[in-house]
Amino acid sequence: LDAPLYADLAGDAEVSFEFFPPKTAKMEETLWSAVETLAPLAPRFVSVTYGAGGSTRERTHATVARIAAETNVPAAAHLTCVEASKGEIAEVADAYWQAGVRHIVALRGDPPREGERFQPHADGYRSAAELVEGLLKLHPFEISVAAYPEMHPEADCADTDVLNLKRKLDAGAAQAITQFFFSPDAYFRFRDRAAAAGITADIVPGILPVSNVAQTRKFAGMCGAAIPPWMDRLFEGLDDHPATRQLVAATVAAEMCRKLYAGGVRQFHFYTLNRAELAYAICHLLGKRPVRAAAPLEVAA
Ligand code: FAD
Repeated sequence: LDAPLYADLAGDAEVSFEFFPPKTAKMEETLWSAVETLAPLAPRFVSVTYGAGGSTRERTHATVARIAAETNVPAAAHLTCVEASKGEIAEVADAYWQAGVRHIVALRGDPPREGERFQPHADGYRSAAELVEGLLKLHPFEISVAAYPEMHPEADCADTDVLNLKRKLDAGAAQAITQFFFSPDAYFRFRDRAAAAGITADIVPGILPVSNVAQTRKFAGMCGAAIPPWMDRLFEGLDDHPATRQLVAATVAAEMCRKLYAGGVRQFHFYTLNRAELAYAICHLLGKRPVRAAAPLEVAA
């Protein structure tokens, strides 16, 4: 696909940003500064992840509730089924609804201990599809679910994984957000398979700007994403050049977004790791500009 030149990008891309709940006051400051920087780009929503086994339950709730209360950016909460009964999930979901949160990213979650297989709680949901169904019985949330262009590591084959995505959407999820990937072709092939399976919902690519390959490789191994060999070569010799690594990271991610845009993608979800600069730069290259006068989106003082 011929990617358009940056000057030709129409600025019609829509974006969303993912954060993780901060552990310390210092991390909270960093997160909040990232929210303040990115909010003027008028994201469709920002989401906050949920730690393995519900380990960040309170922190995720506090972060999402603060975004909902203090900004006019729609906030979405990630929620998993790991080690939780249906009753406990209902409590968490009710608390979100009371706090004005209307969007849940519904996930099965990973086992709390690496290498183990997922075991549903005796009175819990066994899959994300069941969680979606359960949540919608409680409140009419907007629900996003996970998708895997390079296949979820536990899936038997690519086709059954797409069927699982269809189950989640048929259960009432509005859209899917993908695991990160570095091959636009893998995304396009997955989108074609999904369309062939009758999926019409948006499959929003999850974009991870990489400035530390070693760290990304560790994480990619667990979630079935492939790190192409050229990525190592790009960062060769840059261990002591953090600023250059950032520039390379923004370039690689922006190039990928341009290719996705050329293939018709208009929504992008950024894994920010609670840092605004890379996501902001890539959004800027995609033609996004701060929205100020028309709809003030700055964080309230
Ligand atoms: P599911 O859709 O239930 O699928 C899990 C596996 O089971 C797949 O292999 C699927 O094909 C298979 N499967 C499910 N049902 C069936 C069936 N009936 N028959 C056959 N096979 C079936 N994890 C967290 O802990 N916290 C987070 O905040 C978080 N956020 C995420 C955000 C995004 C955008 C993504 C892509 C992932 C996120 N994850 C998060 C990771 C996610 O929890 C893991 O990838 C987990 O292993 C699978 O969750 P899922 O919702 O995709 O599960």
